[in-house]
Amino acid sequence: MDVSALGQARPWTLPWWKPSADNRWTFRYLVSIHLLALIGIILFPVPGWRIFLLSLGLIMCGGLGTSACYHRALAHRAVKLNWIVEQLLILCAVFNGSGAPSTWVPNHRNHHANSDTVDDVSSPRHGGFWWAHLRWVYQWQPSSLKKWVPDINQPKYLIWAKLQPILILLSIFSGYFVGGWKGFFWIGTIRLVYILHMQMFVNSLLHLKPGLPEGVDSSQNIWWLGPFQVTAWGENWHGNHHAHPASARFGQYWWQVDIGWYAIKALEFLRLAKNVRT
Ligand SMILES: [Zn+2]
Ligand SMILES: [Zn+2]
Repeated sequence: MDVSALGQARPWTLPWWKPSADNRWTFRYLVSIHLLALIGIILFPVPGWRIFLLSLGLIMCGGLGTSACYHRALAHRAVKLNWIVEQLLILCAVFNGSGAPSTWVPNHRNHHANSDTVDDVSSPRHGGFWWAHLRWVYQWQPSSLKKWVPDINQPKYLIWAKLQPILILLSIFSGYFVGGWKGFFWIGTIRLVYILHMQMFVNSLLHLKPGLPEGVDSSQNIWWLGPFQVTAWGENWHGNHHAHPASARFGQYWWQVDIGWYAIKALEFLRLAKNVRT
C-alpha cells in the first residue's frame, strides 16, 4: 500500500495539520476559532453577566439541538420530533458549530457500526486522544450519505449544509452587535471553542480505555463531565448509550441526570414528540 492510500485507510497516520480534501474549511474554521478565542480570553478575561448569560443561553439551545435532535431523534430514531421543533433544534445545533445533519448523522451511525475497530470514525484506540478528540473531524473522509443515512438524504436536512457557512459567520460575528468586542469574543469564538471541546469529550474521554483488544467496547460513563456539557448533560452516560443505542434515555437511574431525556419527555407531554423509545 502506498503512503497516500495508507493515509486514507488509517488517516491518523497523516500529520495532524493535513486536513482531508473535503475538510479544508473545517480545519480553517477550527484553527480560526481557537486563535480568536485565545485573543479574546487575553483581552477580556471576564465577560460580565449579561454577555455570559447570552452565551450560556446559546450553548444550552445548541446542546439540546445536538443531543435531543441530532443524536437521539435523527441518528438513532429513538424519538420522532414535531417538524418545526426538529428544524429549530437543527438551527441551534448548526449555530453552535456542531455541523449539519448530513455530516453529523452519517458519521455517528458509522461510529456505532464500527465502534472500537480500525474502521471507527473516532476511536482513540488507534489514533490516540487527539485523533478521537479533534483530528477525526477534519481528517476522516466524510461518511457516505447513501450508505449510512438514506433517510437524511432529503432537502429538509440537506439545506442545512448549504446554510451552514452563513450561520457560522453569524455565530462568530453577531456577538459584536450585542456586546461590542467583549460580546464578539465571548458570544462568538469563546462560546464555540468551549462547546466544541465539551462535545468532543464524548468521542475522546468517553471512549478512552487503553489496553482493550480490538472490537471490545470502550464506551464509559463519566459523571463529572455532565454539568460542563450544560443541556447536552446526559451525553456523559455514553457507556449506557452504547449498551442501549435504540433508547432515547441515556441516564438509567434517577441520579444519572439526563437533560436531553427530560426535554424529550416534556416535548412528548406537549404533543411535540412521539414514538419515544426507552
Ligand atoms: Zn449514538
Ligand atoms: Zn461512542
